[in-house]
Amino acid sequence: MTILALEIGPTRFAASALGEEVGADEVRQIPVPDRGAWERCRELLIEAAAGSEVTSLGIASSGPIDMEAGVVAPAEVPEWRTGFAIVEAARKLFPSAAVQLGIDGVCLALAEQNFGATNAVPDALVMSVSDHICGGVMMGGFIVVGRTGNGGHVGHVLIPGFDDPCSCGGRGCLEAVAGGAAVLRWARQQGWTGASLLDLVEAAKVGEGIPAAAVGRAGTALGRGISSVAALLDHDFVVLGGTMAQAGPALWKPLGEAVATHARLSFLTGLRVVPSELRDVGILVGAGVLGAAAAAQG
Ligand SMILES: [Zn+2]
Repeated sequence: MTILALEIGPTRFAASALGEEVGADEVRQIPVPDRGAWERCRELLIEAAAGSEVTSLGIASSGPIDMEAGVVAPAEVPEWRTGFAIVEAARKLFPSAAVQLGIDGVCLALAEQNFGATNAVPDALVMSVSDHICGGVMMGGFIVVGRTGNGGHVGHVLIPGFDDPCSCGGRGCLEAVAGGAAVLRWARQQGWTGASLLDLVEAAKVGEGIPAAAVGRAGTALGRGISSVAALLDHDFVVLGGTMAQAGPALWKPLGEAVATHARLSFLTGLRVVPSELRDVGILVGAGVLGAAAAAQG
């Protein structure tokens, strides 16, 4: 019995077989390819299965998706921008496996609910902020999937005070200010010459200057967005993971200040934002949980 998980991320494809304790034992990953996207996924999955019988496959994809049709259309995968029927392709590859598709944020929420900080918390917002932002909403112990499977798209909540252009075509979205790719772009516009988001985050941790300003700007936007979402959903608990969450006080201090400024209603006074402990396997592990649940339902 092998549970497989596949992550179609904005920057990587990752696959893993998940053991009894559902930890990603050995993650196989490649950068998002320009061509041959499904062929590369197929190779990753066959390697991860290692010849054993696959009972379930959970697929976590960055959005948008059409969950019912089993179609993904992530903007970051050039071949799939207009839609790719990934569930059908996966069923052909593993005919005896239950295959289930979910958006990355929903999978992240499943991982936090089963193995992370929201294990005993029925109402929470979970977020991952790396190059892009994904989010999942838990209400009364249930994860909000939404009408088309795209529920929890917190990266496109509008943030007052910002007007940065967003990859979705709009302006002033949270992802356009606080997503790692946007933070990196803003820092470079100010003259920073470092190589990567990880470098920027490391520089922000130890110093002031452009990296700290870029990360601080993201922290402010995150605090504003989180305050709005918490008020809408009557939430008091937020779990924040991803590369940006590792930036230390440069991110967390302005984030906390923005929450203190904006989350003022009586039911929001205990609003807590805590770092995730799932590191970079959260989405993948959640995909495995999703697939295993589909197999259990038959
Ligand atoms: Zn947007």
